[in-house]
Amino acid sequence: MSEETNCIFCKIIRGEIPSAKIYEDDLIYAFLDISPINLGHVLVIPRQHWVGSSEIAEDVAGRMFRVGSRIGVALKRSLDYDGFNLHLADGACAGQVVMHAHLHVVPRGADDGFRWNWRQMQYSSDSVRTEILNKIVEKLKF
Ligand code: AMP
Ligand code: ZN
Repeated sequence: MSEETNCIFCKIIRGEIPSAKIYEDDLIYAFLDISPINLGHVLVIPRQHWVGSSEIAEDVAGRMFRVGSRIGVALKRSLDYDGFNLHLADGACAGQVVMHAHLHVVPRGADDGFRWNWRQMQYSSDSVRTEILNKIVEKLKF
């Protein structure tokens, strides 16, 4: 069985399982997350099955970001939120559970009580930072 046949988000696109649609066009589909961080939490997904964010075609990725941010604005206007997070988990260790790339639009209120568990490390020296930077740049491919 192919990845696409089994994939829960491909099933949503094909209408095989129900979803609460917010928006769709030729490239993408957006719907309410079934277990929202805050009410109105939306997922924006490409119609085509890609696993990782770097595989998504540029026009589709651009559309996902554009529509995601517009939905974020709509969440603020309609449900009185103060802001929103756009979040994408790439890889299981990053928290990706559904292996069909997707962008979360998480509406945020000033006092919603939710905190990303964000830690902040430090580079031990300038040379360590430079070494890290050079390694990244060396592998950067388009
Ligand atoms: P991630 O952890 O980034 O892979 O996020 C997967 C998201 O998909 C989670 O927030 C789930 O709540 C959501 N999800 C899983 N199944 C469904 C579904 N059938 N309809 C809507 N959202 C879903
Ligand atoms: Zn899929």
